[in-house]
Amino acid sequence: MLDAGTVYLVATGAALLFALGLGVRVLVGIFREGRERSRKRRAGETERYTEDPIYDRDPPAPDERSSSTCPQCGVENESEFTYCRECAAPLGPG
Ligand SMILES: [Zn+2]
Repeated sequence: MLDAGTVYLVATGAALLFALGLGVRVLVGIFREGRERSRKRRAGETERYTEDPIYDRDPPAPDERSSSTCPQCGVENESEFTYCRECAAPLGPG
């Protein structure tokens, strides 16, 4: 006849083994994926991290980018900036 302590031990042990098996499976999966990626990298197959076409566009050249001059210190700021990057003075529109 099994007492409560033995049943508890067996149940806990089984659960522990099950969790261990799952963990090992996940680790092996991660390991395999990492090896596959490094193999691809060595083979020269570069991976793209995004398919978003916005990242394929070249950034605008610095002289083409619209800028606004700070009325206080005269530093050139990007037009998107609301405040001067140098002196934090509010930049007027345009
Ligand atoms: Zn400024």
